[in-house]
Parts: sequence; C-alpha cells; structure tokens
Amino acid sequence: MNKDINMIYERIQKAKEKAGRKDKISFAAVSKTRTVEEMKEAEKISWVDFFGENRVQEAESKRKIYGTSKISWRLIGHLQANKARKAVELFDYIDSVDSSDLALRLNRIAGETGKVIPVLIEVNTSGEASKSGISPENFNSLVDIVVKQENLRLDGLMTVGPITEDEREIRSAFANLRTLSENAREKTGLTLPVLSMGMSGDFESAILEGSTLIRIGTLLFGPRNYTEKNFMI
Ligand SMILES: *Cc1c(COP(=O)(O)O)cnc(C)c1O
Repeated sequence: MNKDINMIYERIQKAKEKAGRKDKISFAAVSKTRTVEEMKEAEKISWVDFFGENRVQEAESKRKIYGTSKISWRLIGHLQANKARKAVELFDYIDSVDSSDLALRLNRIAGETGKVIPVLIEVNTSGEASKSGISPENFNSLVDIVVKQENLRLDGLMTVGPITEDEREIRSAFANLRTLSENAREKTGLTLPVLSMGMSGDFESAILEGSTLIRIGTLLFGPRNYTEKNFMI
C-alpha cells in the first residue's frame, strides 16, 4: 500500500479544482492481483467506494475468503460468455458490457435470478487492438439493445485511455467518451450518471474531461507483481 495515500486524495482534489468541479468523483480501488489483506486495508480508506476486479475467477477465490464487504465490487475486465453467470453472482456492477450477445445473456441470467444488474458499456476509444470495448461506430446500436433489456440498468460508459505519453491524445479519447455519453443521454432520456475513465497514469486528464469514476490500482497498492502474488491475472 502506498504510504502516502493522502497524496492521492490531494491530487484528485487538485484536478477537480482545475476542472472547476464540485461533484463527487467515485474511487474504485483496482484490486486485481492484490491479496485479501491488501484489500481489507483499502476498504478502511474513507474515500474508497468500490473494488475493481478484472477476472471472474480471481474475484471468486477472493470473495470466498473475504467475508462481508462494506463496499461494492465492480467487474472492470472483459467478460467471457461462459463466465457471465458467475459474474452476475459475484459482482454488484458489471462495467464491461461490450457486445449485444453479452447484454442479452446477462439480461437472461439476471431475469432468472430475479436481479437487475447495473451495467456500463465499455467503449474502445483508442482503437488499440489490444483493448476490449465496443467501437465508437457501433456504440449507438449497442445502447439501443442494452436499454431494451428489462433486467439491465444502464448507468453509463467506461473506457481505458490510450497507451501514450501524449496528453492531448489521452484527453481526446476521454472527451470522445464524454461526447458519446451526452449523445446517448439525449437519445435515451436516461441520466447515465457514470463516466468511468482514468487510471493511475491518467486520472487527472480524465477528471478534466468529466470522469465521475476513476479506477486506481498501482498508485494505491504499488506496482503489480504478476509472478509472486497469490492471485494472477
Ligand atoms: C488494471 C486496471 C486499472 C488500474 O490500473 P493502474 O494503472 O494500476 O491504476 C484500471 N482499469 C482497468 C480496466 C484495469 O484493467
């Protein structure tokens, strides 16, 4: 865990000031590869609102030993069809809906279990092939499908910023997500309050472009170690 967690809080406040914002920006502690002990530490921080996990299996092992969690768990990684049922069981929010097939499947499973699942649509704003998410071109048709699903509640959009040092390029990807969200709001009449964008390396840019939910792993917990931890991604 970062010894100077106040620094994180202060950087968020500074970015909010620079953006002239007073609204709440939620904080997801991205706990992939972290142990349950590390997560318990993070849960104690008053401004941590969620855990973000990107693997269903890893979340399942951790949920088993975690006990009652005071904060909700969000799935922020790509969801494979065959893990959808498990994901519905484990997560309070599914932020990575990126195809109509997945939306239909989640809706069906939610219906069977008597749930309404809050979801985000993940958009690939960078065009990078390694990234999941629906393309901006196909976004509108996915919105049409998601909003028709009785057992899904569309809360907003999510994206992962481009891998670049170029601040303008990063800002532009985040601005594109905001524009898509505004258009979808107009089209559907929904409030779509959540704009999930910004990670350890780019959360300040994301806040300047209107992010309402930042997802921070490395800055909070330290560098990820994929080989030695109990929970691999
Ligand atoms: C890992 C991950 C994060 C956190 O990344 P950091 O750079 O460690 O803050 C945020 N969002 C998603 C979707 C991730 O997979």
